[in-house]
Amino acid sequence: MSALAELLEAIREESGPATWSAGQALSRAGVVSVQSVDEEEVVLRVRIPGRPTPLTTTLYPEDEIWECDCRGKADPCEHVIAAAIVLRQAEGRKATAAAAPARPGPASL
Ligand SMILES: [Zn+2]
Repeated sequence: MSALAELLEAIREESGPATWSAGQALSRAGVVSVQSVDEEEVVLRVRIPGRPTPLTTTLYPEDEIWECDCRGKADPCEHVIAAAIVLRQAEGRKATAAAAPARPGPASL
């Protein structure tokens, strides 16, 4: 399992069901954008309607740590959840795109 997948798992375990659903909805709303990707940290912006500036959410996949500047009561908050879901999906798409042309497995014949 990738570090991102494990981070997402950890976030899911820590989050309440209501926050998790809110995070899933946000991840599909197209409001999360990746600002920078580093060895240890990924910085994302989450645009919330009605807020003048986007929130900054930082994920540390290797350390399974996350931060968000929304100062919400929930930890992880829905922004962290959305950020992790979006990143994990992007990673999955990359893996599929890289693997598909090189390896037509027996199952596809
Ligand atoms: Zn937040």
